[in-house]
Amino acid sequence: MPPRVSFLGLGAIGTPMASHLVGRYDLAVWNRTAARAEVFVQQHGGRAVPTPRAAATGSSVVFTCLPTSRDLERLLDGPDGLEGGLERGALLIDCTSGDPATSIRIAQRLAMRGVGFIDAPVSGGTNGAAAGTLTVMAGGAEADVQRGRPYLESFATRIEHVGPVGAGHALKAINNSLLAVNILALAEGLAGLAKAGVAPRKALEVLNASSGRSFVSEVLVPERVLTGAFPNTFRLALLAKDVGIGVQLLESQHVGGPMISLAAELFRAARAALGEEADYLEAIKLIERQAGVELRG
Ligand code: NDP
Repeated sequence: MPPRVSFLGLGAIGTPMASHLVGRYDLAVWNRTAARAEVFVQQHGGRAVPTPRAAATGSSVVFTCLPTSRDLERLLDGPDGLEGGLERGALLIDCTSGDPATSIRIAQRLAMRGVGFIDAPVSGGTNGAAAGTLTVMAGGAEADVQRGRPYLESFATRIEHVGPVGAGHALKAINNSLLAVNILALAEGLAGLAKAGVAPRKALEVLNASSGRSFVSEVLVPERVLTGAFPNTFRLALLAKDVGIGVQLLESQHVGGPMISLAAELFRAARAALGEEADYLEAIKLIERQAGVELRG
C-alpha cells in the first residue's frame, strides 16, 4: 500500500499539483468548496474527505496550497481543524505563497505535537504545475526538506532548500515582487514606444535580443497580452498579496528602497480597480487605458 498523502486547497495551481500525486500515493483531497474536490476526484482520482481533520488523519505527508499563511493558520483550528488530525511524525508541506512570520508561528505550534513543517512555495505557474516542472523554494530543517523531497518531486523538477522555515516564502515574495516590477515597467515602456510609432511586437523582438529582456517580455506579454488572450491563471489579488509580503520583508530588514514599495502600491490600486477575480496581467490594461493605447498585434 503506498503511503497516505493529503492535499488541501484545490485552486488554480493546487489542482494540477495534486493531480500528480494520484497513483503515486493513497491521496485524500479536501477543498473548502466541497464540489471542487468532487470534480477533482472524478477527473483525476483520489478520495474526497469532508474536513481538514479527516484529510490529515493517517497521512504521513499533508500538502496545503491556500491564498495566504493566515488561511492555513485558521485551518489548523477547531474540532474539524487540520491540527487535530495531524499525527506525531507527520510532515506538513505548505505550498502557499505565504509569509515568513506566520509560517514560523505555525512551525513552532506543530513542533510541539511532533509534526514537521516546511514552507515550499512554487514557481512556474499553472502550466508548470500541469507539466510537473515547478520550482520549489523550500524553507525548513534539513531533515524535513529531505523527507519532503520525494513527494515534491511528483510535481517539481527543481527543489531548492534555501534556509530555515520562512526562507522559502521570503524568496518567493521577492521573486513575485520582481515579476510585478517587470510587468509594470515593460507595459509602460511598450506603451510609450507604441505611441512613438514602434509596434509592440517589433519592440519585443528587439528587447528580447537585448539586455532589457525578462520572462515577462519573452513569454507573458507576447503570448497573453499581444494576442489579447489574457487567460485567467493567477489572480491579480494574489500577486498584490505577494508584493505586500515583499515590502514587509524589506521593511523588517530595514531596506527602504522605493521600487518594490511602488509596485506594491500600484498592484494594490489595480486590485481595488479590477476586483478579486482579475488575472494579474490585466494590470497592463490599466496602463494601456491611462496611455490611450492597446498593446496588441
Ligand atoms: P485560487 O484562488 O485559484 O485557489 C485558492 C484555493 O484556496 C481554493 O481551493 C480555495 O477554496 C482555497 N481557499 C481560499 N480561502 C480559503 C480559506 N480561508 N480556507 C480554506 N481554503 C481556502 O489560488 P491559486 O491556486 O492560484 O493559488 C494558491 C496559492 O498558490 C496562492 O498562495 C498563490 O499565491 C500561489 N501560487 C499561484 C500560482 C498560479 O499561477 N495560480 C503560481 C504560484 C503560486 P474554494 O474553492 O472554496 O474557493
